[in-house]
Amino acid sequence: MRTVTYVIAQPCVDVKAQACVEVCPVKCIYQGDRCLYIHPDECLDCGTCEPVCPTEAIYLDLELPEEWFDYLKYNPAFSLPSAPSVTSIS
Ligand code: SF4
Ligand code: SF4
Repeated sequence: MRTVTYVIAQPCVDVKAQACVEVCPVKCIYQGDRCLYIHPDECLDCGTCEPVCPTEAIYLDLELPEEWFDYLKYNPAFSLPSAPSVTSIS
């Protein structure tokens, strides 16, 4: 698994407005139980989703606030085939 680049973090929790999903050219943003996740192997690292998020939940990994570092693990973990509640919303 390669390094995550764009990551969805805590401000997305229980919001799920999905503006990011509408602009993602490859539909690599998936819905979890309480927030959305970016599939690290499908993401093109284009950055299109970052400015459209109303809660500023999307970050380049190098710019992610330290308090949300756990989301560096959550996004790729949720993309594993074994993850039980991943649902494509494309
Ligand atoms: S636009 Fe932002 S808050 Fe809305 S679903 Fe995407 S990451 Fe979450
Ligand atoms: S960076 Fe581009 S490809 Fe990756 S999730 Fe955002 S819009 Fe989709």
